Amino acid sequence: MTFPEKKESKHATVRLPKTMLSAIEEFLKTEEAKKQGFLYITDVVTEAVREYLTSRRFEFINHDEKGVKIHDRQLHRVADVYIRPEGVWCDLCKTKQCEHITFALTHKEMQPYLKKKREEGWNLPEPE
Ligand SMILES: [Zn+2]
Repeated sequence: MTFPEKKESKHATVRLPKTMLSAIEEFLKTEEAKKQGFLYITDVVTEAVREYLTSRRFEFINHDEKGVKIHDRQLHRVADVYIRPEGVWCDLCKTKQCEHITFALTHKEMQPYLKKKREEGWNLPEPE
């Protein structure tokens, strides 16, 4: 007689401080949590960790006349995003639309420069 093989679980257990757990439980009772579709503690923790890791992925290296240099920690590469009157271009992805461009166009340090260039008529997309 053979038994069905044990399925490997896609989840693992982590331990959280109890105070954090209470804070999450309190949050889950709010309208905001319901609106965002959070039902369980896991939903909140997963989303928070995902957001944190995404925010850590890109590092703004510098900005000069040609464009922006971004370190992508996930790809272990540097992305050069060129900002020109005719538009933007990511030299790493060879495209006009990617996460590096979104990061460059939404970076706080870039806003005064981008505003000035848009006023000069540069064809720079507004990030969503
Ligand atoms: Zn890119």
